[in-house]
Amino acid sequence: MLRRITLISASIALGCLATIGPVLTSLYFANRDVENRDRADIQEFADKAMLRAELVTYQAFAALSDLEQQPGAACSPANLEQAARVIYNYRYVQDAGAYAEGKYLCSPLLGDVHDKDLTLPPPDYRTNDGFLIWFRQKSPLSDVRKDLQIGRNGHYVSMDPEAYVDLIDPARRPIAAIQTTTGTVFAVSAGADPNEMFNAWKHAGDVKSDEWNYAVARSSTRHIAVVVKSPRSSVVGDRPKLLAAWLSVGVIAGALLGWLAYRRVTRQLSFASTLEWAISRRKLDVVFQPIVRLADNECAGVEALVRWTLHEQAISPEVFVRVAEESHLIQPLTDLVLDKTIAQLGRLLAANPAFYVSINVSSEDLRTFRFLNLLTKSLQGTGIAPRQMRIEATERSFMNADATRGVIAAFRAAGHPIYIDDFGTGYSSLSYLQTFEIDVLKIDKSFVDTIAQDTASSVVAPHIIGMAHELGLEIVAEGVESEFQAQWLRTKGVQYAQGWYYAKAMSAGDLARWLGKNRAARTPDSIGGGIATGSIET
Ligand code: C2E
Ligand code: MG
Ligand code: MG
Repeated sequence: MLRRITLISASIALGCLATIGPVLTSLYFANRDVENRDRADIQEFADKAMLRAELVTYQAFAALSDLEQQPGAACSPANLEQAARVIYNYRYVQDAGAYAEGKYLCSPLLGDVHDKDLTLPPPDYRTNDGFLIWFRQKSPLSDVRKDLQIGRNGHYVSMDPEAYVDLIDPARRPIAAIQTTTGTVFAVSAGADPNEMFNAWKHAGDVKSDEWNYAVARSSTRHIAVVVKSPRSSVVGDRPKLLAAWLSVGVIAGALLGWLAYRRVTRQLSFASTLEWAISRRKLDVVFQPIVRLADNECAGVEALVRWTLHEQAISPEVFVRVAEESHLIQPLTDLVLDKTIAQLGRLLAANPAFYVSINVSSEDLRTFRFLNLLTKSLQGTGIAPRQMRIEATERSFMNADATRGVIAAFRAAGHPIYIDDFGTGYSSLSYLQTFEIDVLKIDKSFVDTIAQDTASSVVAPHIIGMAHELGLEIVAEGVESEFQAQWLRTKGVQYAQGWYYAKAMSAGDLARWLGKNRAARTPDSIGGGIATGSIET
């Protein structure tokens, strides 16, 4: 029972694994795929943002250089005109003008502010090539706006930092622009936290976050970098319900698969272990089928036939005997049949020395002296003569000739007659089999079936019978189902018959009753004195 439960659990677990495994694997790969795509996507966006940042920066320097093209005094009409042109020509330039000694002087938008004392503080950063940069310079034109201002040689241009980060993006991914030599975050779009973006830039975008992916793009020509961030769209992380649904489907399908697997396994693989269990618990029974002497219809003996009922269903011995042979269970099976036969028929046999029982053995039983030794030991003290315990072996059992020959000889030497079962169904010739020194030949039912029929195989039965006579073997015809067949066999000199015409296999108790009835029914002038049946154990 425990074994069965373990088997069921193992099958279900295996089924679950088999189903959930692929689901989890595909989720894992789907997730990885989404993540990779996310990364590629955000990097592409960062590269685009970088292009914009480079363009805006390029415009700032180009505008400044254009301003310097105009010779003459600062704030001259020609100079201011040039500044106005620059503002107009460069889209991202907001203002352009002149400064000196820490003060704004003029610009087309400010006008002349010499006297207004508009202070320009020292720059935040000076480049090696002489540019001055104010990252967040408050515009004299506005109380709120802070511009990115670049100056050289008394000229300056103002850029709206927004220009760096106001890309058209339906996903509205936050962007920040950073001057990399100073590490200054000089432009951020709405929703971007400068500290967070700075941190992402410092870690080259490799920031652990369940919610966000980060990407950094660096300019190859300028000291600027752009950081963007984008929400992660992980399959698993985003959709726990989806995952749960998949897992439930996996578990249900797994349980179903497991159950089916269990049924298959129990039917096929564990059939042998169930049989092993049944043999060890002595759940197999023995029935006995009469073997009748054709001359007087007297029951000369019986054949012991094994029976197994599993879950109230009779299993054919053709099936489980073969499984037992393939699973090394045939020896315990033969032992059990012997044991039950002696237990049930022992007294009948002891009381009727002419009566016998034949036991079916398999090739494994004939390869060693083990079964013979057991048989000899089992008969000790029972009053059963060895000649009453006969051995039936099929042609197949004789294939392992070397090992078998000696064992067969030993059985005969011990007094147990040897029967060749199902004769004619194998490929051995009778003269070859006779080299094993056998006593009785059982003609297979398939040949008995053809008796007096006009078929090709109908010539086989007379042929076998003729050969057996020549070799001095006794014959039992198997599967006799009609008086017609019995009569035919009688005329051919066949001595014994076994078949449903006489009786099917039955329990020891039924056999006792049958033997009693059979004796009463036989004609008064029949040969033989009948069988004492009062001694059958049921
Ligand atoms: P077998 O030794 O040739 O046994 C004769 C089979 O023919 C039995 O089938 C018997 O019930 C069946 N039979 C007898 N008379 C008739 C008849 O008139 N008509 C029909 N249709 N069938 C008849 P069973 O009991 O199903 O056994 C089948 C085979 O299983 C046996 O063939 C034997 O090879 C094997 N077997 C049975 N018991 C044992 C056993 O204890 N040990 C071993 N090793 N094999 C066994
Ligand atoms: Mg047999
Ligand atoms: Mg047979």
